[in-house]
Amino acid sequence: MDRDLLEQGLSELPLYTYVYIDPKQLEFSERIRYICKAECPMYGKTWACPPAVGEVDECARKCLSYEHCLMIGTITEIEDIYSMEAALASRPEHEKITNEIRDLMRQQGVEPYILSTEACAICERCAFLDGLPCRLPGRMHPCVESHGINLIPTLEENGLDFQYGDNIVTWYSLLFFNE
Ligand code: SF4
Repeated sequence: MDRDLLEQGLSELPLYTYVYIDPKQLEFSERIRYICKAECPMYGKTWACPPAVGEVDECARKCLSYEHCLMIGTITEIEDIYSMEAALASRPEHEKITNEIRDLMRQQGVEPYILSTEACAICERCAFLDGLPCRLPGRMHPCVESHGINLIPTLEENGLDFQYGDNIVTWYSLLFFNE
């Protein structure tokens, strides 16, 4: 892949940051999976979440089958950081940017494996609940945490953070790819 060409495209998008990381740098943790199971209302509700995405070691194998990973981040200012509704409203724009980067990669013949934000919300009712296959597997991105990834150490290694002050929402996506 021509990274200069990709980066030219990235520079035209409203990204806060992007950084190439080695997938082997990522921390896969059963503890993150436990938090999904114990605390997330979306656990067991979509194809984009556990247990549908597979065990943590299967998820790790999938991610580590790629040589490279592009981590991208966006930040959005909202009126009230404690409003879940306002925070979630900033998600579609991040997803749109993630898909634009997927398209930039596809234009170069590279098909990335993408992990993005929270549970998939494309369909009103996920087919998982009816025991049916995902309707849009090419568009659906499991969330980063669904794969047991603890992103904090990777962010710290790269001088990045999850929180940039009051009323700032931060989203990250991981795009795994081979060249
Ligand atoms: S695209 Fe639809 S069926 Fe597939 S994971 Fe998302 S909500 Fe579920």
